[in-house]
Amino acid sequence: RAFNFNAGPAALPLEVLQQAQEQFVDYNGAGMSIMEMSHRSALYEQVNNEAQSLLRELFGIPSNYHVLLLQGGASTQFASVPMNLLHAGQTGAYVMTGSWADKAIKEAKLFGETAIVATSESDKFNRIPDLSSIQLPDNAAYLHITSNETIEGTQFTSYPDTGNVPLVADMSSDILCRPVDVSKFGLIYAGAQKNLGPSGVTIVIVRDDLAANSPKTIPTMLRYDTHVKNDSLYNTPPSFSVYMANLVLKWLKGKGGVAAVEQYNRDKTKLIYDTIDNSGGFYRGFAQPESRSIMNITFRIHSEELEKLFVKESEAEGFVGLKGHRSVGGLRASTYNAVPLESCQALAQFMSEFQKRHG
Ligand code: PLP
Repeated sequence: RAFNFNAGPAALPLEVLQQAQEQFVDYNGAGMSIMEMSHRSALYEQVNNEAQSLLRELFGIPSNYHVLLLQGGASTQFASVPMNLLHAGQTGAYVMTGSWADKAIKEAKLFGETAIVATSESDKFNRIPDLSSIQLPDNAAYLHITSNETIEGTQFTSYPDTGNVPLVADMSSDILCRPVDVSKFGLIYAGAQKNLGPSGVTIVIVRDDLAANSPKTIPTMLRYDTHVKNDSLYNTPPSFSVYMANLVLKWLKGKGGVAAVEQYNRDKTKLIYDTIDNSGGFYRGFAQPESRSIMNITFRIHSEELEKLFVKESEAEGFVGLKGHRSVGGLRASTYNAVPLESCQALAQFMSEFQKRHG
């Protein structure tokens, strides 16, 4: 198997892929694949329920929250959040941390007033802005953050205190990478294709009261209460993706849960950050140390020619996905939950050898 550092869709646990392979043609003796089954069947309903309850258990989701399994990706949530939560006369407040926060804000502007209450633009988004000085507008409907900026490689290490104003987070690229106090949030959303499974299913965790108060004019499919009332089975769900996410959640539980996986993620990323920091300036981390992500490691070499060569030589040695995003350039290693420690050890070694050859 490749050393897979893709940013998303990303590596899945080998055990999960093998289990899916075993059940691919015949799920639980049904004589058909899970993909060929009615989403109203007892067998599929069990998968739908199990995925939700495992997510509740592993992420510590309180009982006054709903777990929704939707379609449309996190990009649809950029619009769904303001459509459902931003009422007339209110302002959607945003922390501007980079590429994905920018997309969320642009979408919200289509539906109402927005305000950027903190930004790190002056530092090219290489850090999470100071959260202590955030002033929310009096009429704030919510404060939206992007807990991990996949492209810049920055991650929140603490969350702003918003009082009675709901905190909303796009956790697409770091959900389940570490324990989170869900009760601090009004709504959390995440596309599955980094830490949760293949693309196709989008997770929304929403506090009861927020899901119950959407304006009447929103399309049925984009209303949170539609999916609450129908237990995420209002229409045909992305059944294979939900089934895969359920297998990933079981795998995560078997690994000891979210706290255990956080330690694993820290051990993995330390190998690579240490290699960067001990390279005498040959490699330079993009994110400021206190904002470094344990999911996406962004770094540069002093010449673009060498960066291109790094990608080329790494690919020849079985590494995948190390080219930085086209918008920021450089190099990036995404080290999601399913990326094994061995891949990070191999990358750290490759980086040292590359430096010896070209430094
Ligand atoms: N938000 C973040 C932080 C992401 O990393 C991504 C995808 O990479 C998205 C949103 C968009 O997700 P989707 O492709 O599921 O719409």
